[in-house]
Amino acid sequence: MAITIKRMRYILNILEEMFPNAQCELTHSNAFELTIAVLLSAQCTDKKVNEVTKDLFKKYKSPWDYLNVPLEELENDIRRIGLYRNKAKNIRKLCESLIDSYDGEVPRTYAQLVELAGVGRKTANVVVSNAFGVPAIAVDTHVERVSKRLGIARWKDSVLEVERTLQHLIPEDEWTITHHRLIFFGRYHCIARNPKCPECSLLDICREGQKRMKVVI
Ligand code: SF4
Repeated sequence: MAITIKRMRYILNILEEMFPNAQCELTHSNAFELTIAVLLSAQCTDKKVNEVTKDLFKKYKSPWDYLNVPLEELENDIRRIGLYRNKAKNIRKLCESLIDSYDGEVPRTYAQLVELAGVGRKTANVVVSNAFGVPAIAVDTHVERVSKRLGIARWKDSVLEVERTLQHLIPEDEWTITHHRLIFFGRYHCIARNPKCPECSLLDICREGQKRMKVVI
């Protein structure tokens, strides 16, 4: 284990002070829309996804809607998003499996979700926690980077190892809110290219930040 429960609590308290109301920033009104939005968000900002889903969700309201148009039409509707061709195909595969296995509904458990075409651990965790209130920690690029910089996880750890470590160190009823706070922390503060180390409340325990500060000085 990279850090103690006590140190994790220290980090959690500061994250709470910084981002008390962190929440999912993908616009959605139900579990199906959220699943589509998460699929679209791979290697793309939530802001861009929201720009596209604003119109997309007016046109496509059910899995059948995505299958009732030619693939090229769906590609065109999401073409402002990176990797849109692959994403269009994945959306259609997902819709087919939702119709085949769940009468077009999004299943409510993690185990069922990860079995669906195009749905990985991150998507399943985001959907169960945000749409169905099941505690979960989804490890995306922000959560992984921040966890490693803060020494919560080791640099060599896989995404799954980071997830397991966070689950061990954080009480289950705080998994979902902490997931959102870690994302906000990575998105707005401990940014990939230019983290705000000089003004960071966690600098005293962050070796990565201290190393960067020495370089700057
Ligand atoms: Fe991130 Fe820098 Fe803060 Fe460490 S000190 S958590 S690297 S912003």
